[in-house]
Amino acid sequence: MRVVIGEDLYLLREGLVRLLEAHGFSVIAAVPTAPELLEALISLKPDVGVVDVRLPPTHTDDGLQVAIAARREHPGLPILVLSQYVEQLYARELLADAVGGIGYLLKDRVFSDDQFVSALRTVAGGGTVLDPEVVSRLMTRHSRDEPLAQLTPREREVLALMAEGRPAPVHYRESRVEACGRDLHPAGARTFRRRQSPGPGRRHLPELVGWWPVTVDLIEAARAAEGFMPHDEGLALAETAAKYVCQGPVLELGSYRGKSTLYLVTGVRQADVTKPQVITVDHHRGSEEHQPGWEYHDPGLVDQSTGKLDTLPSLRATLAHADAEDDVIVVVGRSADVARHLDGPFGLVFIDGGHTEAAAITDYESWAPHVALNGALAIHDVFPDPADGGQAPYRIYRRALDSGEFTEVLVAGSLRVLQRRGHGTNPTPS
Ligand code: SAH
Ligand code: MG
Repeated sequence: MRVVIGEDLYLLREGLVRLLEAHGFSVIAAVPTAPELLEALISLKPDVGVVDVRLPPTHTDDGLQVAIAARREHPGLPILVLSQYVEQLYARELLADAVGGIGYLLKDRVFSDDQFVSALRTVAGGGTVLDPEVVSRLMTRHSRDEPLAQLTPREREVLALMAEGRPAPVHYRESRVEACGRDLHPAGARTFRRRQSPGPGRRHLPELVGWWPVTVDLIEAARAAEGFMPHDEGLALAETAAKYVCQGPVLELGSYRGKSTLYLVTGVRQADVTKPQVITVDHHRGSEEHQPGWEYHDPGLVDQSTGKLDTLPSLRATLAHADAEDDVIVVVGRSADVARHLDGPFGLVFIDGGHTEAAAITDYESWAPHVALNGALAIHDVFPDPADGGQAPYRIYRRALDSGEFTEVLVAGSLRVLQRRGHGTNPTPS
């Protein structure tokens, strides 16, 4: 992928060049001033431009003006703006051309290579990546006749949530998000763009509303819940549940305090299915790492009368506060024992249990056979690189793929979703 960089600070410019080259991008120009940047963007027509807002000569918003001018020359030329500030006027002009391939990130809110590189790829691919801060500023200061001014406070809230969820490293192998064959939303970013386009924009709103607003409170509760599910992965899990619940109910192994459970409920509620469709299984005594003396031990979770860890009360409280008790069947028991008595088939089996080799293998062997044809097996904490985390979940993920029975359909952080081949319809490759 060919990249042009416009950044006046030498260290930042060189840093960006090295970071991007280390991730396989080819930096074809890295320049310090606005005129040089405009020249490079127009003559080289890169796959994506990385543009600092404040560039010489005036150090005001030269970079943004260059981006707008370059896109006038090459409509849709993907540009990722890097800014110290939200530059009100021009940012809106840049976003309003409704062609796509636009990103706007605040420098002090980029925290990792992954986050940045994935944002850049999204933009290069025609997507939109906005820092939530940018969204909220754009939405709070605007004139009445702009498209965004027509949004209700609720819709704005949703948009801000979407903006926060989207820039995360979520890579879809499929472009549609659906529930039981019905499109939920083509992609948050695209809906956002359409909303901004001129014309009777209001028409497009139901697409946005169809997916998110009824669940804003639920998404908030999921985000706020204690546990081990990053928000971006949780949203991907929600979309997975929405998509697969039509093949059968959703089975979660590893409820802990209900965080991922709420993301599953978020997704399932999008599909028009009778409650409850989420079954969550845990013995509630914690994994190894939750025991006293281990990294994730929380003394507040110890039941004083038994001296044992007990996450069940906390799970129930999480569900009750989110008003999701009717959506979930809580099962208390050991993974393998429950699997022996619970048949399925399940539309989605989500494995997020113990991380020892033995625990992961048991979970896989216990639950993988219960995944419906064309249903999905999701596995959390999959780290291909041992430097990032334990290898047990990665090994069962490999095992599922190597079995030839599953095809990978989604990667989001350490979440992997594998779809079971439908025997009889899809021939198993040799
Ligand atoms: N999904 C949770 C995190 C799960 S932590 C979240 O989103 O926050 C892993 C959970 O797996 C722990 O609560 C632990 O009690 C449970 N667990 C580990 N081994 C288990 C087993 N063999 N049977 C049932 N539950 C198990
Ligand atoms: Mg996990």
